[in-house]
Amino acid sequence: MCIFCKIVKGEIPNQTILEDENFLAFNDINPTRKIHVLIIPKEHYDSFDVVPSNIMADMTTFIQKVAAKLDIKQSGYRLITNIGDHGGQEVHHLHFHLIGGEPVGRLVR
Ligand code: C5P
Repeated sequence: MCIFCKIVKGEIPNQTILEDENFLAFNDINPTRKIHVLIIPKEHYDSFDVVPSNIMADMTTFIQKVAAKLDIKQSGYRLITNIGDHGGQEVHHLHFHLIGGEPVGRLVR
């Protein structure tokens, strides 16, 4: 079973930010910014590339609620989802990184 499925089942502890029947938001164990939250569907999808659009629609609403709970809707934030090898994906369970709490900088090469 994948590591995020184990988190969903409660077999691995997490610092939950927000949870509902279908989605979970929790602090990344290795934060890269003041705020670094991972947002996942409880059901396993390998990545954004295969998630059904109706699940993504509900996930969008959930992510907006996470931003509201973190009180960062005014200041802004960045959402990232890594897909596959070239995307740098390490955990193959769909997740969005929500980073913020400070300026996160430009995407530069
Ligand atoms: O997008 P990617 O797959 O590279 O990101 C995986 C993320 O999951 C990393 O930021 C890592 O710190 C996080 N992680 C976590 N808790 C775990 C395992 C990984 O927060 N138990």
